[in-house]
Amino acid sequence: MDKSLRKPVIAGNWKMNNTPEQTAALISEMKPLVAGADCEVVLCVPYIDIYAALSAAEGSNIKIGAENCHWAEKGAFTGEVSAQMLKAAGVPYVIIGHSERRQYFGETDETVRDRVRAALNAGLKVILCVGEILGERELGITAEVVRKQTKVALSGVTENELSNIIIAYEPVWAIGTGLTATPEQANEVCKIIRDLIAELYSKESADRFVIQYGGSMNDSNAADLLKQYDVDGGLIGGASLKADKFAAIVKAAC
Ligand code: PEP
Repeated sequence: MDKSLRKPVIAGNWKMNNTPEQTAALISEMKPLVAGADCEVVLCVPYIDIYAALSAAEGSNIKIGAENCHWAEKGAFTGEVSAQMLKAAGVPYVIIGHSERRQYFGETDETVRDRVRAALNAGLKVILCVGEILGERELGITAEVVRKQTKVALSGVTENELSNIIIAYEPVWAIGTGLTATPEQANEVCKIIRDLIAELYSKESADRFVIQYGGSMNDSNAADLLKQYDVDGGLIGGASLKADKFAAIVKAAC
């Protein structure tokens, strides 16, 4: 299968950055820089910035996403936001299982699975994050860890629903640290994920499945990472907060 048959997805993860006003300004700056890009461009923003982001991105090729969603439709979950609420607000994408949620907020493979289910039920597109911590890589168990995270998160997901899921392989030791996986390391694990999709579903679905790399991707290393056969895009943290840097990564992908 030709890699060019998978449309790359470049998604920003703003984390806990930007007010609504800053959101409007940054997206207005980005819009002309990414216009006409031959890849999917997504910005995942804090809940409070969603309306400002949707309004600023209107009429452009930038799609907006949230950074998490709860697994319940509604109820007594103070401080949480449901997938239905995001859908109703007009948000097409949501990140689920980011390592910062796993590390600081008690996210487990099982809660990731439940959030994925809720997001798919609500009609959202999911960017599902998986990745090993440094100790796991040093122990040589990266494949095992990533396969387990992926398997649990996808349990109950049908082959038809796969078209609404992207997996972002994000080695935790590379997130926000300035350390990047080498293109070969990134490709190796993205291939492990693709092979697992083939094993769980079919080779045809695996060939079409979009797998991103994330972890200190920037305007200097993006081209080398993105040309790897099994790397179909990027999930970008720090560099998505600067219009010119994010646009340069989008250009490298398209
Ligand atoms: C991320 O937040 O998913 C990420 C990859 O961050 P950074 O690009 O800053 O490493």
